[in-house]
This record gives sequence, C-alpha cells and structure tokens, in this order.
Amino acid sequence: MRFSGLRVLREGLTGNKGWRPHWRDPAPKAEYDALIIGGGGHGLATAYYLAKRYGMTNIAVLEKGYIGGGNVGRNTTIVRANYFLQGNSEFYSHSLKLWEGLEQDLNYNVMHSQRGLINLFHSDGQRDAFVRRGNAMINQGDDAILLDREGVRAHLPYLDFENTRFPIYGGLLHPRGGTARHDAVAWGFARGADLRGVDIIQNCEVTGIDIENGAVIGVQTTRGAIRAKKVGIAAAGRSGQVAAMAGMRLPIESHVLQAFVTEGLKPCIDHVVSFGMGHFYISQSDKGGLVFGGDLDFYASYASRGNLPMVEHVMEAGMTLMPMIGKAKVLRSWGGIMDMTPDGSPIIDRTGVDGLFIDCGWCYGGFKAVPASGDCFAHLIATDQPHVAAEKFRLDRFRTGVGIMDEEGTGSQHNLH
Ligand SMILES: Cc1cc2nc3c(=O)[nH]c(=O)nc-3n(C[C@H](O)[C@H](O)[C@H](O)COP(=O)(O)OP(=O)(O)OC[C@H]3O[C@@H](n4cnc5c(N)ncnc54)[C@H](O)[C@@H]3O)c2cc1C
Repeated sequence: MRFSGLRVLREGLTGNKGWRPHWRDPAPKAEYDALIIGGGGHGLATAYYLAKRYGMTNIAVLEKGYIGGGNVGRNTTIVRANYFLQGNSEFYSHSLKLWEGLEQDLNYNVMHSQRGLINLFHSDGQRDAFVRRGNAMINQGDDAILLDREGVRAHLPYLDFENTRFPIYGGLLHPRGGTARHDAVAWGFARGADLRGVDIIQNCEVTGIDIENGAVIGVQTTRGAIRAKKVGIAAAGRSGQVAAMAGMRLPIESHVLQAFVTEGLKPCIDHVVSFGMGHFYISQSDKGGLVFGGDLDFYASYASRGNLPMVEHVMEAGMTLMPMIGKAKVLRSWGGIMDMTPDGSPIIDRTGVDGLFIDCGWCYGGFKAVPASGDCFAHLIATDQPHVAAEKFRLDRFRTGVGIMDEEGTGSQHNLH
C-alpha cells in the first residue's frame, strides 16, 4: 500500500474502505537471524535499516507493549543538529540529514517541520558559549545564525524582554531545527520494516537472554523462547534491566522526564523556543496545543509519570519567559523513562557477549537521533564494525575514562557557562 495525494483523494471519495493495517501481527517464529529488543523509535529504525541496507529480513522486533507506547510517543518532538562536542555533532548532523529525506524514504508523513529553533541567552558569558556552539555547528556543515535582542524580538515578539532577572540578550537560531510527529515516526519505521519482511511482535516481553560459551543464542519471552545468533538491545529507559539479563551492569540511571500540553490554540508560537536560564522548551503542535517540558525529576525511577515539584518548576520557567501562556489551560502531562549516562551521550556498541549489541543512553535527546541511531546500530549489527558517525559512542569509555563526552559542551571547561 503506497500513500499518495491521489490515494487519499480516492479513499476520501469512497468511504475510506481501502486502507489496510500498516503492519502484520505475526506470531513469533522459533528462530531468526537477528532480534531487536524494544519496538521504540531506535529498535524499529534499526530493523528498517537492517532490512533496507543489509538485506537482513529474517529478523524480528520484540516489543513488550505496543508500538509507539514508549518514549518515542511521549517526547516533546524536537529535532535539531546543534550539538557541540565532536562525536555528538557529526552524529546528530547525520541524523538531521536522514530526517530531511525520511518522509520520501518511508513514503510516510511524519510531519517533519523545520520551523527553526531558537536558544535564548541572557548574559555575555552565555552569548560567548552560543557563539562558540554556533561556530562548531557551521564547521560541522549545519546552520546557525546569531541573533541580537532585536533579532529575537522580530521572531518572538511575545517574550518578556523586560524581565530584570533574566534579560534576553539574544539567541542562536538553528533554521533547520524543528519538530516531527513522534508516534508517526514509530509507525512509519514499523510499516517500512514490515514491508521488507521484518516481524514486528507486540505484547512480547523479553524475560531472559540466553548465552552459551560467551555468545548469545537467543532470548526467553512471554511468548516462548526465540533463537538468534545476533541480538540488539534498544530498550531505552529499561536498558539497565534488559542488560542485567545478560549479566551486565550498565553505566545508566533511569529518570523520569515530564512533558505537558495545553488546550488547542490558534497559531501563536511558530518556532521551537528554549529558555537559556531555566530548563524550559516549547513549540506548538499542528493541533494547536502548546507542547513543553523542562528538566528531569531529580531522582532515579521507573515510573512513567512525574511529580509536582518539577511541574511547578516548569510552569515557573514558562511564565518567566512568556507570561502570555499563563492564560492557556494545561490539558495533560505525562512522563517517560530516560536512560541517562554519566556524560549525557549515548552508547552504540558491542558488549562482552558475542553477538549481543547495545544501543542506549539516549537521555532526553533520543527522538532526534532515531534515524541515525537506526542506521548506525544496523551497521554495527550487520558488519560487526562501528559506523563512522557513531564510533565515539563506546561502552568502555565509562570504564577506561578515555573518550568521555559531555552533551552540554561544558566538559572540563566550565568557564564556558
Ligand atoms: C517527556 C519527554 C520529552 C522528550 N523530548 C525529546 C525531544 O524533544 N527531542 C528528542 O530528541 N528527544 C526527546 N526525548 C527523548 C526521546 O523520546 C528518547 O530518547 C527516545 O525516544 C528513546 O528511544 P526509543 O524511541 O527507542 O524509546 P522507547 O519508545 O521507550 O522504546 C523502547 C521500547 O523498549 C520496550 N521494552 C523495554 N523492555 C523490554 C523488554 N524486556 N522486552 C521487550 N520490549 C521492551 C519498551 O516497551 C519500549 O517500547 C524526550 C523524552 C520524554 C520522555
């Protein structure tokens, strides 16, 4: 089933009776060439690229819940390539390029909208840090434009520019940054993988990883044992628990991150905006809701809902930056479980068990990473070699201390902030 404008028109005129399910609902087979644990964005994208680029079609994605029920359907949908550190910057740059061709590639509307992202700064020191970040982005081949206060006002006239505590000095505009509809990304990759023969098996929780003579031989699931000589873990917030099934202790803590959405409003925020003096970011969905979030709840948890202190903190930050949003009614809030690494950067690597691979540590930024993570993890699983865009995402950096990265760009140079 291909999507096209003509098809939508024809179905609209004939009662929408011709649409078929986007993927099959197969029973698990006894054996596959490879298994992916976790049917979130990363697991589904990995299966898609394994089938598309490496011709591996006798594979299955095992998902304990339903497609789109994890973080891939819970995030605030921001897609950007404005990372500072080497390692991260080339990876996210690669990801944004894949995003830019994704809808054509998947023949699926993921509502990718490059509406521009503006990171605000509020002091001379912060301006210096953003100038440096902007230069790094341009060197990487991405786009960055430094705006002064009046430049920001021209884009975002509704901000509180007169705030005496946090005056707005300017912003870094990343025109190719934006948003995409999160669950459509999961559906698009699921459909694309299924079309190439991948089995997507929902309601199938992995409960054990079978290892013999140091090599993986399969998994135990709530739907029986499944054999495979290659297994990839892409379980996001549950990575630590799944890796423990193979006797591994990951350098990961799981924390809740909350998000919020208001009632639908007429278009009023047409960029992604992030506040430089508090952890607050906001955009407006195509349905009109203001979608926003802030920092992690400050303790480890596997709960998918958050707590009130962070709600208060996020609302305060929003009101400080754009008092107009005080008039909007918040409809819903929810949480997702973040797989946080000590340096805030991900892991895409082999493990100590032959045939067992891991893709985790996406922290609060793994939605934008979905296409590149799938591409790079598929490369690793298929060829046993790291993809050039992800070769710094090594698991052993936390043991050896060599190659530790820092997503915020602070690293050992705290004077940058
Ligand atoms: C509130 C919030 C806001 C965010 N905002 C952004 C943002 O704006 N931009 C951005 O880039 N990132 C953002 N993120 C981060 C991003 O959503 C995640 O990093 C990313 O989605 C994680 O990868 P995933 O999609 O594969 O995860 P998931 O969708 O969580 O997939 C993992 C899957 O593994 C399954 N699983 C776990 N254990 C097992 C098991 N034993 N057996 C079988 N299946 C199992 C789970 O059920 C789940 O479906 C945000 C996250 C949250 C929660």
